[in-house]
Amino acid sequence: MEKQDVVIIGGGPAGRSIVHSLHAAEKNLSITLIKDEPVNVNRCAVPYGINGKREIEKYQIPNRLVTDFNADLMIDRVEEIDVNAKQVQTAKGTGYEYHHLVLATGSRPIVPPIPGIDGDGITPVRSLADLARRRELAAKSTNALVIGGGYIGIEVAVVLQEMGLSVTVIEMLPRILMATTEPEFVAAVEEKLDTMGICLMTEQKVVAFERASAGSIRVGLDNGDGLDADLVVLSMGVAPNTELAAKAGLEVGRTGIWVDEQLRTSGKDIYACGDCAQKFSFVNQMPVRGEFGTNAVFMGKVVALNILGNPTAFPGVINANATAVGDLSLGSAGFTEAMARDAGIDAVTGFSSVMDKYPMMDGVASVLTKLVFDRRNGKLVGGGVLGKGVCTAAKVDFISFAIQMGATLEDLVSYQYATHPELAAKPSDNTYVFAARDAKKKI
Ligand SMILES: Cc1cc2nc3c(=O)[nH]c(=O)nc-3n(C[C@H](O)[C@H](O)[C@H](O)COP(=O)(O)OP(=O)(O)OC[C@H]3O[C@@H](n4cnc5c(N)ncnc54)[C@H](O)[C@@H]3O)c2cc1C
Repeated sequence: MEKQDVVIIGGGPAGRSIVHSLHAAEKNLSITLIKDEPVNVNRCAVPYGINGKREIEKYQIPNRLVTDFNADLMIDRVEEIDVNAKQVQTAKGTGYEYHHLVLATGSRPIVPPIPGIDGDGITPVRSLADLARRRELAAKSTNALVIGGGYIGIEVAVVLQEMGLSVTVIEMLPRILMATTEPEFVAAVEEKLDTMGICLMTEQKVVAFERASAGSIRVGLDNGDGLDADLVVLSMGVAPNTELAAKAGLEVGRTGIWVDEQLRTSGKDIYACGDCAQKFSFVNQMPVRGEFGTNAVFMGKVVALNILGNPTAFPGVINANATAVGDLSLGSAGFTEAMARDAGIDAVTGFSSVMDKYPMMDGVASVLTKLVFDRRNGKLVGGGVLGKGVCTAAKVDFISFAIQMGATLEDLVSYQYATHPELAAKPSDNTYVFAARDAKKKI
Protein backbone atom coordinates (compact mmCIF):
# COMPACT_ATOMS: atom_id res chain seq x y z
CA MET A 1 0.00 0.00 0.00
CA GLU A 2 1.60 3.25 -1.14
CA LYS A 3 1.56 6.04 1.41
CA GLN A 4 0.04 9.28 0.15
CA ASP A 5 0.98 12.67 1.57
CA VAL A 6 -2.68 13.66 1.48
CA VAL A 7 -5.85 11.60 1.06
CA ILE A 8 -9.06 13.59 0.61
CA ILE A 9 -12.50 12.00 0.93
CA GLY A 10 -15.08 13.92 -1.10
CA GLY A 11 -14.92 15.75 -4.42
CA GLY A 12 -17.21 18.71 -3.75
CA PRO A 13 -16.07 22.34 -3.43
CA ALA A 14 -14.23 21.59 -0.14
CA GLY A 15 -12.25 18.65 -1.52
CA ARG A 16 -11.41 20.40 -4.79
CA SER A 17 -10.37 23.57 -2.98
CA ILE A 18 -7.77 21.60 -1.01
CA VAL A 19 -6.42 20.04 -4.20
CA HIS A 20 -6.12 23.47 -5.85
CA SER A 21 -4.47 25.11 -2.85
CA LEU A 22 -1.95 22.28 -2.43
CA HIS A 23 -1.19 22.37 -6.14
CA ALA A 24 -0.62 26.15 -6.04
CA ALA A 25 1.96 25.68 -3.29
CA GLU A 26 4.15 23.67 -5.74
CA LYS A 27 5.31 21.22 -3.07
CA ASN A 28 4.82 18.20 -5.32
CA LEU A 29 2.85 16.29 -2.70
CA SER A 30 1.27 12.95 -3.52
CA ILE A 31 -2.49 13.53 -3.31
CA THR A 32 -5.36 11.10 -3.77
CA LEU A 33 -8.95 12.31 -3.83
CA ILE A 34 -11.60 9.63 -3.39
CA LYS A 35 -15.21 10.42 -4.21
CA ASP A 36 -18.26 8.28 -4.70
CA GLU A 37 -20.06 10.50 -7.24
CA PRO A 38 -18.59 9.58 -10.66
CA VAL A 39 -19.37 13.09 -11.89
CA ASN A 40 -20.09 15.98 -9.54
CA VAL A 41 -22.81 18.47 -10.24
CA ASN A 42 -22.60 22.20 -9.70
CA ARG A 43 -25.05 22.05 -6.80
CA CYS A 44 -25.82 25.77 -6.68
CA ALA A 45 -27.07 25.55 -10.28
CA VAL A 46 -29.18 22.42 -9.77
CA PRO A 47 -32.47 24.34 -9.23
CA TYR A 48 -31.95 26.10 -12.57
CA GLY A 49 -31.18 22.89 -14.43
CA ILE A 50 -34.73 21.61 -14.04
CA ASN A 51 -36.06 23.62 -16.97
CA GLY A 52 -34.03 21.65 -19.50
CA LYS A 53 -32.96 24.81 -21.36
CA ARG A 54 -29.34 23.68 -21.37
CA GLU A 55 -27.83 20.23 -21.81
CA ILE A 56 -27.32 18.44 -18.52
CA GLU A 57 -23.55 18.31 -19.16
CA LYS A 58 -23.42 22.06 -18.54
CA TYR A 59 -24.26 21.37 -14.87
CA GLN A 60 -21.44 18.90 -14.43
CA ILE A 61 -18.12 19.62 -12.79
CA PRO A 62 -15.44 17.94 -14.87
CA ASN A 63 -13.15 15.50 -13.08
CA ARG A 64 -10.18 17.24 -14.64
CA LEU A 65 -10.67 19.90 -11.99
CA VAL A 66 -9.02 17.29 -9.81
CA THR A 67 -6.75 15.42 -12.21
CA ASP A 68 -5.28 18.53 -13.89
CA PHE A 69 -4.02 19.63 -10.48
CA ASN A 70 -1.59 16.86 -9.80
CA ALA A 71 -3.98 14.68 -7.80
CA ASP A 72 -5.03 11.08 -8.39
CA LEU A 73 -8.76 10.61 -8.59
CA MET A 74 -10.48 7.43 -7.39
CA ILE A 75 -14.20 6.90 -7.92
CA ASP A 76 -14.97 4.79 -4.90
CA ARG A 77 -16.58 5.03 -1.49
CA VAL A 78 -14.50 5.12 1.67
CA GLU A 79 -16.06 2.70 4.12
CA GLU A 80 -13.59 2.72 6.96
CA ILE A 81 -10.81 4.77 8.50
CA ASP A 82 -8.20 3.13 10.70
CA VAL A 83 -6.92 6.10 12.68
CA ASN A 84 -4.10 4.09 14.31
CA ALA A 85 -2.75 2.54 11.12
CA LYS A 86 -3.50 5.81 9.23
CA GLN A 87 -5.31 3.96 6.45
CA VAL A 88 -8.64 4.13 4.68
CA GLN A 89 -10.49 1.22 3.09
CA THR A 90 -12.90 1.58 0.19
CA ALA A 91 -15.98 -0.29 -0.97
CA LYS A 92 -14.01 -1.70 -3.93
CA GLY A 93 -11.52 -3.19 -1.47
CA THR A 94 -8.66 -0.76 -2.01
CA GLY A 95 -6.61 0.59 0.88
CA TYR A 96 -4.79 3.91 1.04
CA GLU A 97 -2.25 4.90 3.64
CA TYR A 98 -2.10 8.59 4.45
CA HIS A 99 0.12 11.09 6.11
CA HIS A 100 -2.73 13.65 6.24
CA LEU A 101 -6.39 12.75 5.79
CA VAL A 102 -9.18 15.22 5.05
CA LEU A 103 -12.87 14.49 5.47
CA ALA A 104 -14.80 16.59 2.97
CA THR A 105 -17.79 14.28 2.84
CA GLY A 106 -20.40 17.04 2.56
CA SER A 107 -24.04 16.70 3.49
CA ARG A 108 -27.20 15.03 2.22
CA PRO A 109 -30.81 16.19 1.93
CA ILE A 110 -32.95 15.61 4.99
CA VAL A 111 -35.64 13.11 4.09
CA PRO A 112 -37.87 12.69 7.16
CA PRO A 113 -39.60 9.35 7.75
CA ILE A 114 -42.98 10.46 6.39
CA PRO A 115 -45.03 7.51 5.09
CA GLY A 116 -44.76 7.24 1.28
CA ILE A 117 -41.86 9.72 0.97
CA ASP A 118 -39.70 7.33 -1.05
CA GLY A 119 -42.29 6.80 -3.76
CA ASP A 120 -42.26 7.84 -7.42
CA GLY A 121 -42.59 11.51 -8.26
CA ILE A 122 -40.92 12.66 -5.02
CA THR A 123 -37.37 13.89 -5.32
CA PRO A 124 -34.75 15.88 -3.40
CA VAL A 125 -32.57 18.60 -4.98
CA ARG A 126 -28.96 17.60 -4.90
CA SER A 127 -27.16 15.26 -7.27
CA LEU A 128 -26.88 14.97 -11.02
CA ALA A 129 -29.15 11.92 -10.86
CA ASP A 130 -31.81 13.94 -8.96
CA LEU A 131 -31.57 16.64 -11.57
CA ALA A 132 -32.04 14.25 -14.48
CA ARG A 133 -35.01 12.66 -12.73
CA ARG A 134 -36.63 16.02 -11.89
CA ARG A 135 -36.25 17.23 -15.47
CA GLU A 136 -38.11 14.17 -16.68
CA LEU A 137 -40.87 14.57 -14.07
CA ALA A 138 -41.24 18.34 -14.47
CA ALA A 139 -41.62 18.02 -18.24
CA LYS A 140 -44.71 15.83 -17.84
CA SER A 141 -46.23 17.44 -14.72
CA THR A 142 -48.79 20.18 -14.29
CA ASN A 143 -48.92 20.50 -10.48
CA ALA A 144 -45.84 20.70 -8.32
CA LEU A 145 -45.44 20.88 -4.59
CA VAL A 146 -42.21 22.13 -3.07
CA ILE A 147 -41.74 21.17 0.56
CA GLY A 148 -39.49 23.65 2.34
CA GLY A 149 -39.39 27.42 1.95
CA GLY A 150 -35.65 27.97 2.29
CA TYR A 151 -33.76 29.60 -0.54
CA ILE A 152 -33.34 26.34 -2.48
CA GLY A 153 -37.05 25.52 -2.27
CA ILE A 154 -37.97 29.00 -3.45
CA GLU A 155 -35.49 28.83 -6.36
CA VAL A 156 -37.00 25.51 -7.45
CA ALA A 157 -40.55 26.86 -7.11
CA VAL A 158 -39.77 29.85 -9.34
CA VAL A 159 -38.18 27.68 -12.03
CA LEU A 160 -41.14 25.27 -12.05
CA GLN A 161 -43.58 28.17 -12.23
CA GLU A 162 -41.66 29.65 -15.17
CA MET A 163 -42.00 26.26 -16.87
CA GLY A 164 -45.76 26.65 -16.66
CA LEU A 165 -46.50 24.37 -13.70
CA SER A 166 -48.88 25.33 -10.98
CA VAL A 167 -46.68 25.50 -7.87
CA THR A 168 -47.36 25.44 -4.12
CA VAL A 169 -44.66 25.83 -1.48
CA ILE A 170 -45.31 24.31 1.94
CA GLU A 171 -43.32 25.65 4.87
CA MET A 172 -43.54 24.47 8.46
CA LEU A 173 -42.40 27.81 9.98
CA PRO A 174 -44.47 31.02 10.05
CA ARG A 175 -42.41 32.61 7.23
CA ILE A 176 -40.25 31.43 4.35
CA LEU A 177 -36.49 32.14 4.15
CA MET A 178 -36.32 32.62 7.91
CA ALA A 179 -32.81 31.21 8.36
CA THR A 180 -31.05 33.99 6.47
CA THR A 181 -33.48 36.79 5.72
CA GLU A 182 -34.84 39.78 7.60
CA PRO A 183 -38.67 39.81 7.93
CA GLU A 184 -38.87 43.12 6.01
CA PHE A 185 -37.36 41.41 2.96
CA VAL A 186 -39.35 38.20 3.39
CA ALA A 187 -42.54 40.23 3.02
CA ALA A 188 -41.32 41.57 -0.35
CA VAL A 189 -40.44 38.06 -1.54
CA GLU A 190 -43.82 36.71 -0.45
CA GLU A 191 -45.52 39.47 -2.40
CA LYS A 192 -43.40 38.69 -5.46
CA LEU A 193 -44.25 34.98 -5.26
CA ASP A 194 -47.90 35.89 -4.96
CA THR A 195 -47.81 38.07 -8.10
CA MET A 196 -46.04 35.24 -9.91
CA GLY A 197 -48.92 32.93 -8.99
CA ILE A 198 -46.92 30.71 -6.62
CA CYS A 199 -49.02 29.63 -3.67
CA LEU A 200 -47.39 29.77 -0.24
CA MET A 201 -48.66 27.71 2.68
CA THR A 202 -46.82 28.46 5.90
CA GLU A 203 -47.18 26.79 9.30
CA GLN A 204 -48.22 23.59 7.54
CA LYS A 205 -46.65 20.23 8.10
CA VAL A 206 -46.71 17.35 5.64
CA VAL A 207 -47.53 14.07 7.37
CA ALA A 208 -48.19 11.58 4.56
CA PHE A 209 -47.80 10.87 0.85
CA GLU A 210 -50.25 8.56 -0.85
CA ARG A 211 -50.53 7.43 -4.47
CA ALA A 212 -53.71 8.69 -6.01
CA SER A 213 -54.95 7.85 -9.50
CA ALA A 214 -52.81 8.13 -12.66
CA GLY A 215 -49.50 8.84 -10.94
CA SER A 216 -50.86 11.73 -8.90
CA ILE A 217 -49.60 12.07 -5.31
CA ARG A 218 -51.93 12.97 -2.46
CA VAL A 219 -50.02 15.01 0.12
CA GLY A 220 -51.56 14.94 3.60
CA LEU A 221 -51.14 17.84 6.01
CA ASP A 222 -51.28 17.73 9.80
CA ASN A 223 -54.48 19.80 9.85
CA GLY A 224 -56.22 17.00 7.96
CA ASP A 225 -56.22 18.76 4.58
CA GLY A 226 -54.73 17.22 1.46
CA LEU A 227 -53.24 18.47 -1.81
CA ASP A 228 -52.66 16.69 -5.10
CA ALA A 229 -49.47 16.99 -7.12
CA ASP A 230 -47.71 15.17 -9.98
CA LEU A 231 -44.30 16.22 -8.73
CA VAL A 232 -43.07 16.76 -5.16
CA VAL A 233 -39.70 18.38 -4.55
CA LEU A 234 -38.17 17.93 -1.11
CA SER A 235 -36.09 20.84 0.11
CA MET A 236 -36.09 20.46 3.86
CA GLY A 237 -32.49 21.22 4.66
CA VAL A 238 -29.39 19.06 4.84
CA ALA A 239 -27.68 16.80 7.37
CA PRO A 240 -23.88 16.52 7.56
CA ASN A 241 -22.31 13.23 6.43
CA THR A 242 -20.62 12.31 9.70
CA GLU A 243 -21.16 8.54 9.88
CA LEU A 244 -17.72 7.62 8.53
CA ALA A 245 -16.05 9.90 11.08
CA ALA A 246 -18.20 8.57 13.92
CA LYS A 247 -17.42 4.97 12.94
CA ALA A 248 -13.71 5.81 13.12
CA GLY A 249 -14.20 7.10 16.66
CA LEU A 250 -13.79 10.79 15.80
CA GLU A 251 -15.72 13.29 17.86
CA VAL A 252 -18.96 14.27 16.16
CA GLY A 253 -21.51 16.90 17.21
CA ARG A 254 -25.08 17.54 16.16
CA THR A 255 -24.09 19.90 13.34
CA GLY A 256 -21.02 18.11 12.06
CA ILE A 257 -17.62 16.60 12.72
CA TRP A 258 -15.93 18.41 15.61
CA VAL A 259 -12.93 20.49 14.51
CA ASP A 260 -10.58 22.83 16.35
CA GLU A 261 -9.74 26.29 15.04
CA GLN A 262 -7.22 24.84 12.58
CA LEU A 263 -9.95 22.47 11.35
CA ARG A 264 -8.26 19.42 12.88
CA THR A 265 -10.59 16.67 14.05
CA SER A 266 -10.05 14.68 17.22
CA GLY A 267 -8.04 12.13 15.14
CA LYS A 268 -4.31 12.53 14.56
CA ASP A 269 -3.51 14.23 11.23
CA ILE A 270 -7.17 14.18 10.22
CA TYR A 271 -8.94 17.38 9.15
CA ALA A 272 -12.57 18.07 8.23
CA CYS A 273 -14.05 20.92 6.24
CA GLY A 274 -17.12 21.97 4.29
CA ASP A 275 -20.68 20.83 4.97
CA CYS A 276 -19.58 17.81 7.03
CA ALA A 277 -17.66 19.88 9.61
CA GLN A 278 -18.93 21.87 12.58
CA LYS A 279 -18.80 25.60 12.09
CA PHE A 280 -18.67 28.59 14.36
CA SER A 281 -19.60 32.15 13.61
CA PHE A 282 -17.03 34.79 12.76
CA VAL A 283 -19.16 37.28 14.68
CA ASN A 284 -19.22 35.68 18.13
CA GLN A 285 -17.23 32.45 17.71
CA MET A 286 -20.28 30.41 18.72
CA PRO A 287 -21.55 27.29 16.85
CA VAL A 288 -23.64 28.14 13.79
CA ARG A 289 -24.94 26.33 10.72
CA GLY A 290 -23.34 27.31 7.43
CA GLU A 291 -23.83 24.90 4.52
CA PHE A 292 -22.63 27.21 1.77
CA GLY A 293 -20.28 26.54 -1.14
CA THR A 294 -18.13 29.55 -0.27
CA ASN A 295 -17.65 28.32 3.31
CA ALA A 296 -16.57 24.93 1.95
CA VAL A 297 -14.00 26.52 -0.38
CA PHE A 298 -12.63 28.82 2.32
CA MET A 299 -12.35 26.00 4.86
CA GLY A 300 -10.56 23.89 2.23
CA LYS A 301 -7.97 26.64 1.79
CA VAL A 302 -7.36 26.76 5.55
CA VAL A 303 -6.94 22.98 5.72
CA ALA A 304 -4.42 23.11 2.86
CA LEU A 305 -2.38 25.81 4.63
CA ASN A 306 -2.26 23.72 7.79
CA ILE A 307 -1.22 20.61 5.86
CA LEU A 308 1.51 22.68 4.23
CA GLY A 309 2.88 23.54 7.65
CA ASN A 310 1.61 27.14 7.86
CA PRO A 311 -0.49 27.06 11.04
CA THR A 312 -3.67 28.95 10.13
CA ALA A 313 -6.77 29.48 12.24
CA PHE A 314 -10.17 29.46 10.61
CA PRO A 315 -11.82 32.73 11.65
CA GLY A 316 -15.40 31.40 11.52
CA VAL A 317 -18.11 31.69 8.92
CA ILE A 318 -19.88 34.91 7.90
CA ASN A 319 -22.38 32.96 5.78
CA ALA A 320 -22.58 35.43 2.91
CA ASN A 321 -25.44 34.28 0.67
CA ALA A 322 -27.63 35.51 -2.17
CA THR A 323 -30.59 34.31 -4.17
CA ALA A 324 -32.97 35.49 -6.88
CA VAL A 325 -36.77 35.40 -6.96
CA GLY A 326 -38.08 36.50 -10.33
CA ASP A 327 -36.62 39.95 -10.94
CA LEU A 328 -35.83 40.41 -7.24
CA SER A 329 -32.53 39.48 -5.71
CA LEU A 330 -31.60 39.37 -2.08
CA GLY A 331 -28.93 38.19 0.26
CA SER A 332 -27.33 38.59 3.64
CA ALA A 333 -24.11 38.18 5.57
CA GLY A 334 -23.50 37.69 9.27
CA PHE A 335 -26.39 37.82 11.72
CA THR A 336 -29.93 38.92 11.07
CA GLU A 337 -31.41 41.10 13.82
CA ALA A 338 -33.19 38.07 15.33
CA MET A 339 -30.01 35.98 15.29
CA ALA A 340 -28.06 38.79 16.92
CA ARG A 341 -30.63 39.12 19.69
CA ASP A 342 -30.73 35.33 20.18
CA ALA A 343 -26.96 35.45 20.56
CA GLY A 344 -27.31 38.01 23.34
CA ILE A 345 -26.05 40.94 21.26
CA ASP A 346 -27.56 44.33 22.09
CA ALA A 347 -28.47 44.91 18.44
CA VAL A 348 -29.23 48.25 16.88
CA THR A 349 -30.42 48.28 13.29
CA GLY A 350 -30.47 50.79 10.46
CA PHE A 351 -32.62 50.66 7.36
CA SER A 352 -32.34 52.42 4.00
CA SER A 353 -34.17 52.53 0.72
CA VAL A 354 -32.37 54.29 -2.12
CA MET A 355 -32.56 54.25 -5.90
CA ASP A 356 -30.09 51.82 -7.48
CA LYS A 357 -29.39 54.28 -10.35
CA TYR A 358 -29.80 57.99 -10.97
CA PRO A 359 -33.56 58.77 -11.04
CA MET A 360 -33.66 59.69 -14.77
CA MET A 361 -32.17 56.37 -15.96
CA ASP A 362 -34.19 53.51 -17.45
CA GLY A 363 -35.11 50.69 -15.12
CA VAL A 364 -34.34 52.54 -11.91
CA ALA A 365 -35.52 50.61 -8.83
CA SER A 366 -35.11 50.71 -5.07
CA VAL A 367 -32.46 48.85 -3.18
CA LEU A 368 -33.26 48.13 0.45
CA THR A 369 -30.55 47.58 3.03
CA LYS A 370 -30.74 46.61 6.67
CA LEU A 371 -27.61 46.68 8.79
CA VAL A 372 -27.26 45.20 12.27
CA PHE A 373 -24.71 46.66 14.70
CA ASP A 374 -23.58 45.73 18.17
CA ARG A 375 -24.53 48.74 20.31
CA ARG A 376 -21.71 47.98 22.74
CA ASN A 377 -18.84 48.65 20.33
CA GLY A 378 -20.60 49.88 17.19
CA LYS A 379 -19.36 46.90 15.15
CA LEU A 380 -21.29 45.65 12.15
CA VAL A 381 -22.50 42.11 12.88
CA GLY A 382 -24.78 41.53 9.91
CA GLY A 383 -26.75 42.95 7.07
CA GLY A 384 -29.10 42.16 4.24
CA VAL A 385 -29.91 43.66 0.86
CA LEU A 386 -32.88 43.37 -1.46
CA GLY A 387 -33.02 44.88 -4.91
CA LYS A 388 -33.65 44.18 -8.57
CA GLY A 389 -31.19 42.74 -11.03
CA VAL A 390 -27.99 40.92 -10.41
CA CYS A 391 -25.78 43.10 -8.27
CA THR A 392 -27.12 42.04 -4.88
CA ALA A 393 -24.37 39.45 -4.41
CA ALA A 394 -21.75 42.18 -4.81
CA LYS A 395 -23.62 44.28 -2.24
CA VAL A 396 -23.67 41.33 0.17
CA ASP A 397 -19.94 40.86 -0.43
CA PHE A 398 -19.39 44.44 0.72
CA ILE A 399 -21.26 43.72 3.97
CA SER A 400 -19.37 40.47 4.43
CA PHE A 401 -16.01 42.17 3.93
CA ALA A 402 -16.98 45.02 6.25
CA ILE A 403 -17.83 42.47 8.97
CA GLN A 404 -14.57 40.63 8.31
CA MET A 405 -12.59 43.86 8.64
CA GLY A 406 -14.36 44.78 11.90
CA ALA A 407 -16.05 47.86 10.41
CA THR A 408 -18.06 50.02 12.79
CA LEU A 409 -21.10 52.20 12.34
CA GLU A 410 -18.81 55.26 12.11
CA ASP A 411 -16.72 53.55 9.38
CA LEU A 412 -19.86 52.96 7.32
CA VAL A 413 -21.21 56.47 7.81
CA SER A 414 -18.03 57.89 6.34
CA TYR A 415 -16.78 55.34 3.82
CA GLN A 416 -15.93 56.46 0.26
CA TYR A 417 -17.75 54.99 -2.72
CA ALA A 418 -18.17 55.26 -6.50
CA THR A 419 -21.09 56.63 -8.45
CA HIS A 420 -22.29 56.52 -12.05
CA PRO A 421 -25.79 57.19 -13.48
CA GLU A 422 -26.23 53.66 -14.82
CA LEU A 423 -24.40 51.76 -12.10
CA ALA A 424 -25.06 53.36 -8.72
CA ALA A 425 -27.21 55.79 -6.76
CA LYS A 426 -26.60 59.52 -7.10
CA PRO A 427 -23.56 60.87 -5.25
CA SER A 428 -25.49 62.02 -2.19
CA ASP A 429 -27.18 58.65 -1.68
CA ASN A 430 -25.53 55.46 -0.59
CA THR A 431 -27.42 52.50 0.73
CA TYR A 432 -24.91 51.59 3.47
CA VAL A 433 -24.26 55.18 4.56
CA PHE A 434 -27.99 55.80 4.87
CA ALA A 435 -28.59 52.57 6.79
CA ALA A 436 -25.67 53.30 9.14
CA ARG A 437 -26.94 56.85 9.71
CA ASP A 438 -30.37 55.45 10.53
CA ALA A 439 -28.81 53.16 13.12
CA LYS A 440 -26.74 56.03 14.53
CA LYS A 441 -29.91 58.03 15.21
CA LYS A 442 -31.05 55.21 17.51
CA ILE A 443 -27.93 55.18 19.65
C1 LIG B 1 -29.61 22.72 -4.66
C2 LIG B 1 -28.51 23.40 -3.94
C3 LIG B 1 -28.22 24.73 -4.21
C4 LIG B 1 -27.20 25.38 -3.54
N1 LIG B 1 -26.94 26.68 -3.83
C5 LIG B 1 -25.92 27.32 -3.21
C6 LIG B 1 -25.61 28.67 -3.52
O1 LIG B 1 -26.27 29.31 -4.36
N2 LIG B 1 -24.59 29.25 -2.84
C7 LIG B 1 -23.85 28.59 -1.90
O2 LIG B 1 -22.90 29.15 -1.32
N3 LIG B 1 -24.11 27.28 -1.60
C8 LIG B 1 -25.13 26.65 -2.22
N4 LIG B 1 -25.41 25.33 -1.91
C9 LIG B 1 -24.63 24.66 -0.87
C10 LIG B 1 -23.33 24.08 -1.44
O3 LIG B 1 -23.61 23.35 -2.59
C11 LIG B 1 -22.67 23.21 -0.39
O4 LIG B 1 -22.43 23.98 0.76
C12 LIG B 1 -21.36 22.63 -0.91
O5 LIG B 1 -21.59 21.76 -1.99
C13 LIG B 1 -20.62 21.88 0.19
O6 LIG B 1 -19.44 21.40 -0.34
P1 LIG B 1 -18.70 20.12 0.28
O7 LIG B 1 -17.50 19.88 -0.56
O8 LIG B 1 -18.54 20.31 1.73
O9 LIG B 1 -19.74 18.93 0.14
P2 LIG B 1 -20.49 18.26 -1.12
O10 LIG B 1 -20.65 19.22 -2.22
O11 LIG B 1 -21.69 17.62 -0.54
O12 LIG B 1 -19.47 17.15 -1.59
C14 LIG B 1 -19.15 16.05 -0.78
C15 LIG B 1 -18.76 14.89 -1.65
O13 LIG B 1 -18.25 13.81 -0.86
C16 LIG B 1 -18.75 12.59 -1.34
N5 LIG B 1 -18.66 11.58 -0.28
C17 LIG B 1 -19.37 11.58 0.88
N6 LIG B 1 -19.01 10.50 1.61
C18 LIG B 1 -18.08 9.83 0.90
C19 LIG B 1 -17.35 8.62 1.13
N7 LIG B 1 -17.49 7.90 2.25
N8 LIG B 1 -16.46 8.20 0.18
C20 LIG B 1 -16.30 8.93 -0.95
N9 LIG B 1 -16.98 10.08 -1.23
C21 LIG B 1 -17.86 10.50 -0.30
C22 LIG B 1 -20.18 12.97 -1.74
O14 LIG B 1 -20.75 12.02 -2.58
C23 LIG B 1 -19.94 14.31 -2.42
O15 LIG B 1 -19.56 14.15 -3.76
C24 LIG B 1 -26.44 24.67 -2.57
C25 LIG B 1 -26.72 23.33 -2.29
C26 LIG B 1 -27.74 22.69 -2.97
C27 LIG B 1 -28.03 21.24 -2.66
